[in-house]
Amino acid sequence: MRELTAWEIETQAQRLYGLLGNVTDFKTGGKHTLEYCRAIAPYALAINNLKKENDAVILAHYYCAPEIVYGVADFKGDSYALAKAAAEFSGRNIIFCGVYFMAQTAKIVNPGKRVYLPPAAAGCSLADGIDAETVSKLKERYPDAAFVCYINSTAEVKALCDVCVTSSNVYDIAAALPNERIVFIPDLFMADNIRAELKRRGVKKEILSFGATCCVHDKYTVRDIEKLRAGHPLVKIISHPECALAVCQASDYCGSTSGMLEYVRKSADKEFAVLSEDGIVNSLEFENPSKTFYSVSRPCGQMKRNTLDNILAVLKDIDKAPQIQVPEATALKAKLCIDNMFKMAGKK
Ligand code: SF4
Repeated sequence: MRELTAWEIETQAQRLYGLLGNVTDFKTGGKHTLEYCRAIAPYALAINNLKKENDAVILAHYYCAPEIVYGVADFKGDSYALAKAAAEFSGRNIIFCGVYFMAQTAKIVNPGKRVYLPPAAAGCSLADGIDAETVSKLKERYPDAAFVCYINSTAEVKALCDVCVTSSNVYDIAAALPNERIVFIPDLFMADNIRAELKRRGVKKEILSFGATCCVHDKYTVRDIEKLRAGHPLVKIISHPECALAVCQASDYCGSTSGMLEYVRKSADKEFAVLSEDGIVNSLEFENPSKTFYSVSRPCGQMKRNTLDNILAVLKDIDKAPQIQVPEATALKAKLCIDNMFKMAGKK
């Protein structure tokens, strides 16, 4: 790798500051400074140069740090958008900045590509909340049910399910399935939200749920919302369906990450509080510089394990870096489950 000049580094620092200057650095609680951008500029420059040399693309989930999402990513998005981007990528190497199940999904939908997850073992409390053995037993117990998994699940679990969903299509897909009984895994809170939404739509189905909760979103309470409204009478509360049903129902808007971005973009309101991960607040700040976001978001420690440092380490020695591997038989079955989501979501 050639040495970078002082002029290149300063130009990159100014570019980063232009992108991140209005965005909160949750490590300090203040906005990103020019000094910080100068410190990360050599990493961003080296990554952007090595990407081209290695025919690589960086896909970054919104929950990653903003210097990744805005500084080096070629494509940013929520789980659904990133899975689609991975499926459509025609180059050689996918660097997936997210957590393990997301990188597995990229490998499943585009098996000919080499897929890397910079923090090799970054997990997720939802995906780790149910295993394939448990799902196999559930299938024996409920042979008449449609098995629907949230995209936050392992390849082995997806391989056993009929269709997977993301927070942007879960209600439409659940409503459209012909089965009267659905086993939804692994997000217990999202299952509560599905029951409520289907009831609101007048769709009669039995939703059984098994698994876990998101360790970031499950911390929010209705009391948090009451305090926010008491302190900021004009605030609009936004939450994610991984939050508890009572929290979602007490919010002004509850929806997927991309849904939140659209809601704020179109809203005439000026003050918001986001009951979700820090990274989505960064993206909201980036897109809406004239709006105020009160600090109630939380970090996902696993998502934050993606750093410029470990992305650079992968790119510097890409032939030797550990790749995501999914056994072929598992990948083929899991792909059917994901493809069913793309088909059903496309029918809307
Ligand atoms: S925010 Fe929750 S659901 Fe998303 S990766 Fe982190 S633990 Fe998993």
